[in-house]
Amino acid sequence: MTISHTILDAIGKTPLLDLGDGILAKCEFLNPSGSIKARIAKYMIEKAETEGLLKPGDTIVEATSGNTGNAMSMVAAIKGYRMIVVMPDGYTSERVKISRGLGAEIKFVGHFQVNDALRTAQELGAQPGYYCPQQFDNEWNVDENRDWLGQEVIAQIPETMRIDAVVQGVGTGGTLIGVSQALRQWHNDQIKVYAMEPKESRTLECCIVADHQIEGISDGFIPTIYQRHRHEIDDIVHVESETAIEVSKELARQRGLFVGPSSGANVWAAQEIKRRNPEIKTVLTFLCDKAEKYLSLMYS
Ligand code: PMP
Repeated sequence: MTISHTILDAIGKTPLLDLGDGILAKCEFLNPSGSIKARIAKYMIEKAETEGLLKPGDTIVEATSGNTGNAMSMVAAIKGYRMIVVMPDGYTSERVKISRGLGAEIKFVGHFQVNDALRTAQELGAQPGYYCPQQFDNEWNVDENRDWLGQEVIAQIPETMRIDAVVQGVGTGGTLIGVSQALRQWHNDQIKVYAMEPKESRTLECCIVADHQIEGISDGFIPTIYQRHRHEIDDIVHVESETAIEVSKELARQRGLFVGPSSGANVWAAQEIKRRNPEIKTVLTFLCDKAEKYLSLMYS
């Protein structure tokens, strides 16, 4: 262990937890800012700096349902950029307070309408002195998840173990596409790739958009990254919001994993994949964020 100069050094190197019954869960809720999004925030902002798209004194503006906002606010605070988080109202107030606490300004647009937030962020981001990373569209999101998170998982898998399938809820699709590209390329070229979305809002499958409580995924439209890579997905698993919250609470009570609804949904989806496909022995999934971000939803 050496001295770190910023908390960005603490992103990554998260445990890969064996939950038993052939389910491995990557503990991304342990990242600084409390979610899986710390990695893309650091990666995309530093890439934009290297490419000369982001300069000292600039403002970063990004559309998000919360976690990317928290993560980018953290990176912007460390690097001295002004940060504007564009988000719909309706999501848990904790995420808003975290971004504000990290020094960001919040711009609200429509109720649960991430699509409106996207447009607003892009318009603002097109002005001189502003930069919009565009997580839903930018292939750097996929690159990070393949070359950092994906490679990290592969390095943690014992030589005697093979992962047969991967499942992850789709927000941008970046995690699922990037990690599965890594696994397919460097671990198991036969890997089965499952997207997870709420049962109430089957947006990826048949464009049904409805309210649900698995915040951070299924934001009401099919993200460009997912559209571009949908041929890399084998199937979609649907999980009810109530089940997602129930399983998340079980993970807390039975294993001390204080995680949000999408983590519970992922674990249930991994179990369901195994129930439906006995030939699948080992499934990788993700514990995406902390339950502290949902106290008002899950534990009030
Ligand atoms: N779970 C949570 C809680 C999230 O915030 C996100 C990202 N919005 C995801 C899952 C899905 O990640 P991705 O954007 O890489 O699809």
